[in-house]
Amino acid sequence: MKVRLWGVRGSLPTPMNRSEYHEKLIHAMEYAQQVWQADADCGVDEIINQMHPNHKSVIGGETTCLEINHDDTVLVFDLGTGARNLGASLMQRQFRGDLHVFLTHTHWDHIQGFPFFIPAYIPDNTIHFYSCLDNLKERFSRQQHPDHFPRRFDDMPAQTEFHYAQPGDCFTINGLKVCTCSLIHPGGSIAYRIEAGSKTVIFATDTEFYGPELSRQMSDYQDFFAGADLLLMDAQYSLQEAEEKKGWGHTAMTLAVDCAIYWGIKRLILTHHEPAHQDKEIWRLFEEAVAYIEARRVSGMPFALDIFTAKEGDEYEI
Ligand SMILES: [Zn+2]
Ligand SMILES: [Zn+2]
Repeated sequence: MKVRLWGVRGSLPTPMNRSEYHEKLIHAMEYAQQVWQADADCGVDEIINQMHPNHKSVIGGETTCLEINHDDTVLVFDLGTGARNLGASLMQRQFRGDLHVFLTHTHWDHIQGFPFFIPAYIPDNTIHFYSCLDNLKERFSRQQHPDHFPRRFDDMPAQTEFHYAQPGDCFTINGLKVCTCSLIHPGGSIAYRIEAGSKTVIFATDTEFYGPELSRQMSDYQDFFAGADLLLMDAQYSLQEAEEKKGWGHTAMTLAVDCAIYWGIKRLILTHHEPAHQDKEIWRLFEEAVAYIEARRVSGMPFALDIFTAKEGDEYEI
């Protein structure tokens, strides 16, 4: 399976502002100046490679959208604003046919990209929607009421089909098994476990693992999460924010790490980044999580876990 990240922000699209760009630019130029003072022949690509990820890359401001490719099957998870670029990419790849779209829930940051999703304007395409919400079509139609958008959901040229399940049920699509599980989030959210042969990816965004119940929560979810090769998980907050925003439905980075260690996950991608955090704060929290892992390695049972912070445009192969 190939996993591509098209949107990794939580809650609200977050374009980079002028001062943040300026700060990155100044850091990059100062770094290059230092290198060139020591080695005037050093190439630009080499210098960029050596830079801190905050200075050589961007986290990205689009909201949640994930693509998983397996053979010729395209699965999409959530249609946040990242779906606009996914749609453009699918058109560039001359995609036509059946597209399988899974919704975790319908908070704005998970559906807002659909009206701008070009494959939905191509009559040859069939978009299959999968959800545990039995009124999903109505929710999408409401988003495209003429008060909010010029084109109604029902007037989009692609065919649409809705497939409903109960939490805990599985779908099978071209040999891929996609199982569902209810998460801890206001209004509900669904995690998806995608299995291709012996490989497993889990997408679990918009969920709150926190507080005195954490041990019980991790244990309750053990069967669903156990041993995944790759887990993409909500990690919106710092620990302090998780305390301040208890009940808002999101997890702190270090607590996502606790969960991943408990469940025996191999690779954890921290996602649904807080819109109030500039990139440097996301990297600061990530480095805190890396240090936390090292401390756990020294003090406890051995475990194999690599962590990454989700960046728009990243790809993972499983
Ligand atoms: Zn969200
Ligand atoms: Zn949500």
